[in-house]
Amino acid sequence: MNNPVIELAKTLIERPSVTPLDEGCQTLIAERLIPLGFSVTDYSHEAVTNTWYSHGEGEPVFVLAGHTDVVPAGDDKAWSTPPFEPHCIDGYLHGRGACDMKGSVAAMVVALERFISAYPNHPGTIALALTSDEEGDAIHGMRHLIEQLPTWEDVTILTGEPTSSNALGDTMKPGRRGSMHGTITVHGKQMHAGYPEANKNSIHLSASILEALNTLNWPASDGFQETNIQCYAIHADAGATNVIPGETILHWNCRYGITPTSDQLIAEIKQALDNTGVPHSLAISVSSNPFVTKEGALSKALAKAVETHTGLRINPSTTGGTSDSRFWAAKGCPVIDFGPLNTTIHQVNEKVLMDDLITLSHIYESTLQELSKVLS
Ligand SMILES: [Zn+2]
Repeated sequence: MNNPVIELAKTLIERPSVTPLDEGCQTLIAERLIPLGFSVTDYSHEAVTNTWYSHGEGEPVFVLAGHTDVVPAGDDKAWSTPPFEPHCIDGYLHGRGACDMKGSVAAMVVALERFISAYPNHPGTIALALTSDEEGDAIHGMRHLIEQLPTWEDVTILTGEPTSSNALGDTMKPGRRGSMHGTITVHGKQMHAGYPEANKNSIHLSASILEALNTLNWPASDGFQETNIQCYAIHADAGATNVIPGETILHWNCRYGITPTSDQLIAEIKQALDNTGVPHSLAISVSSNPFVTKEGALSKALAKAVETHTGLRINPSTTGGTSDSRFWAAKGCPVIDFGPLNTTIHQVNEKVLMDDLITLSHIYESTLQELSKVLS
């Protein structure tokens, strides 16, 4: 298919930019946008490539944001086509990053090219923010880039994360849940398996702890689904068939919404564990805070663009993992994630409908047009 969005997506997929590598993707985009009058600022940090491309000046500032890194391909042999060799088969573009999110980045760049050509004197600033560390630690990526920007009052961000679930345009993510994880060390006593003391087997004691965790449940609220705790690992092994381990360690993760807050959750978790009477110690770390962008100019502009180009009514959802949007939200900016179908992301044989990428570029362009009118 000879379409600028597909051609650019293919060129990006050819570059094996596994986190934190960029492999020249952002330079390639700079070479396309500079002739259109974009200023390009390199905010690379440590091993991460970050670029800010901007056109116009002052506020309002409207940012399209995304990442050029991809998750590893995994087992290359499990792929039906080589992961870093783009292939167009039966209307689909195949390759690592096709949906997450080189396809969206290509749609954004082409949308910007068309928009700037049509409205070279748009109000405020139109920008593209790219990082090569969204899929990894995300410490030196978008978070660092945002810290380098001037303090603006009126900044709006649309990211290209793959959010659609059954059809392009069915879902946007105006918010993301927070995430905390913890370890509970159950203290028993190391013993001979043939000479056990009552209530000292750390593995048996952990049953009460697990039950306490399992009964903790907080109802859905503010557009966030219910909150519960998910154990993902248990460690206990003294290395011999006749030795009972003195400690059992439970690892858990909790995804949560705006209410209850992380402090309230932590207090309730502590109380529930103390109520078991089982000797234990607890360590908790909050890795990301929840956020939600209220309905406003951005969500309305996006919904209108989606309806125009797909006929669908877009639904807000806060399910799934988190994204770099949390760093924009932490600055108080309205931010929404919207992009192609997420059914094959991070899997072998990642693929995206080429028609969807082309439609996506029109949705981004119409959103830019609508917001420029609304915000001007
Ligand atoms: Zn992504």
